[in-house]
Amino acid sequence: MQYIDMHCDTLMQALMRRRDTIEQLDGTMVDAARLRRSGASAQFFAMFLPQKTEPERFGQENVPEPSELLHLMYQVYRNTMEACSDYMAPARSYENLLENQRAGKISAFLTIENGCVADGKFEKIKEFYDMGVRLITLTWNDANCFGWPHSGNGEEMRRGLTDFGKEAIGYMNELGMLVDVSHLSDGGFYDVADVSKKPFVASHSNCRALSPATRNLTDEMIRVLAESGGVAGINFAPQFLNENTEDAVSRIARMCDHVLHFIDKGGIGCVGIGTDFDGISGEFEIADCTQMEWLFAALHKRGLSEGQLEQIACGNVMRVLRDVL
Ligand SMILES: [Zn+2]
Repeated sequence: MQYIDMHCDTLMQALMRRRDTIEQLDGTMVDAARLRRSGASAQFFAMFLPQKTEPERFGQENVPEPSELLHLMYQVYRNTMEACSDYMAPARSYENLLENQRAGKISAFLTIENGCVADGKFEKIKEFYDMGVRLITLTWNDANCFGWPHSGNGEEMRRGLTDFGKEAIGYMNELGMLVDVSHLSDGGFYDVADVSKKPFVASHSNCRALSPATRNLTDEMIRVLAESGGVAGINFAPQFLNENTEDAVSRIARMCDHVLHFIDKGGIGCVGIGTDFDGISGEFEIADCTQMEWLFAALHKRGLSEGQLEQIACGNVMRVLRDVL
């Protein structure tokens, strides 16, 4: 079944492994060869920008600054688009996605994970838009010019967006860029819901009622997200799937539980896929993008119709892209 994945960290993997394109990767959860066999209609590629230096992530002493990382990952994206042009093409609009589908090509959407690089400036957001970025995950796990991240501390979790963050949502709405609340504080989530005039997304977040991770959405948040016309992408990380956060096995049955919970609380229109491939660790029943079919088969067994599966795999995200970009 054709699917759209709203989040992977494969560009980061290319940097860590010192590859110029994702075609030169082998053995990652997403790489060009696997993607080609996967049935992906579109893959969102995140430029993941840690604010604090985390040498272990990159296997080198001097981790570049976020703005330098952005530049390096953008190069990998561009090189990949050139090297893989036979079967993959960049997408900046809903129309691009349809064109690529007709041409039998995978659409590659470019995203930023951590808006810190906007540096509190609208010009920067416009610059990213002109580069082809069509989604910004407002924060990662640190505070930035947009607002505060998710936190186990109740007071921190209630903090919302900054004044710049609120204005920037309006600007992103105007430009046609997706606002992504994954990693954001609960306060930030509700500010986005208040301010955004367009549907927004939680590109790679699950249900907090089933797994207590602060990265996940409460039932109330699922309802509000669905009301906006937005969508949440099921994340395959075991610590966001399991009730016991020590349990490091990512199971298909558990993914189905989260999908059904999203449907129960927000309706069939609010759930999609946001694997987080190449940014997560553990033991995986779905080990890479070629095995996505197993999720849809399992959901079918749990009672979802072909039409409902199509919505989860592709249709819901397509609707949001049509409405926002
Ligand atoms: Zn993330």
